[in-house]
Amino acid sequence: MKVSIGARTDVGQVRQGNEDSMLVESPLFVIADGMGGHIAGDVASATAVEVIGQMYRQHPPADPSTLETYIEEANRAIHEKARSEPQLSGMGTTCTLVHLDGDVAHFAHVGDSRAYLFRSSELSQITQDHTLVERMVQEGRLRREEAQQHPQRNIITRSLGVEPQVEVDSIDIGIDDGDRLMLCSDGLTSMVEDEKIAEILRSSAEAQEAADRLVDAANAAGGEDNITVVVVDVGSSSGNAAPLPPPAPREDTSPAVRDEDPEPPRPRRRWPRRVLITLLLGILIAGGAYFAIRFSLNNSYFVGATEDGYVAIYTGIPDEVGGVSLREEHEVTDILVDDLPESLRDNVEEGIKVDSLDEAQTTVENLRERSLEFGGTDGSGSGSGTGGNKKGSGSN
Ligand code: CA
Repeated sequence: MKVSIGARTDVGQVRQGNEDSMLVESPLFVIADGMGGHIAGDVASATAVEVIGQMYRQHPPADPSTLETYIEEANRAIHEKARSEPQLSGMGTTCTLVHLDGDVAHFAHVGDSRAYLFRSSELSQITQDHTLVERMVQEGRLRREEAQQHPQRNIITRSLGVEPQVEVDSIDIGIDDGDRLMLCSDGLTSMVEDEKIAEILRSSAEAQEAADRLVDAANAAGGEDNITVVVVDVGSSSGNAAPLPPPAPREDTSPAVRDEDPEPPRPRRRWPRRVLITLLLGILIAGGAYFAIRFSLNNSYFVGATEDGYVAIYTGIPDEVGGVSLREEHEVTDILVDDLPESLRDNVEEGIKVDSLDEAQTTVENLRERSLEFGGTDGSGSGSGTGGNKKGSGSN
């Protein structure tokens, strides 16, 4: 099937570098959104698209499962690199790809970079984010409208490079003339609502125009993250924003713009979208019981209390999801929770969320002062002046 392509990646308004990568090698399209700090995130996403590109050239996809092996191979390569180079330790990346094969589009993905289908002027999300908030939405613990603003919306539950193995989700959909597919990193979807995205897709005749305007919209909304958008228009017409031509029998398609595919139209293999989405949901919910929850803990810290009553800095989040603890001890202090004023005690026991390790340490120092004023008047219980006891820091 003939396609026209629009693609753009942009650093955004806030970040120093662009850690997104993309590969446009029609009929294969890949995006990856790296994380783990300046160089590492960049390396992770670049490695993902590099490995997938190589695999694709060496082993063209025989069936959709080949696409999953590309991603698994990329995962291995990133994991290896992260292990062998200390400055790359902990790096990871999302990866979302689509491969067009006749009248079917095969999607495979890990993480929160999304794929959408824009058809008959209607936008539907193909992929399901591997994020904590998506999980909470699925479990009915969070409303969809709240998810986009949730402070933990950046925590992804699956990514490439973090573990030696990765579970890849894949989905196939039937495609038709006039369909428009879009892949994008969360730099678009966290800044621009689906409704606005649909409006831009509706009013952009060309794929490149659509990609450009989507990136512009994310930047206009603040551009807080790197933005990558790939738009693929399927079929003989360029774009689907132009008014629909009067319905015509398929045979009337002029030879000049016919598909490269000379076969007569095949029987429809497409399943109704609702069935596919229901199936996908079923698979995801069933799968949820099996895959271990893995969190990108890089950027989430909170100050909480250990079981034996000391103030500690944790990575992760205070809440449990489905009875699973999402915290890991980063540093235990010698401040006793009991030495704090009652109001602070409650806060610490619930967990005080902070934006960075620096902020966590400042919070701990404030708590230390308050504990000295309030409880540890003689300093005996709270180890004043020791400057903190760094049990467990640096482990893992
Ligand atoms: Ca991102």
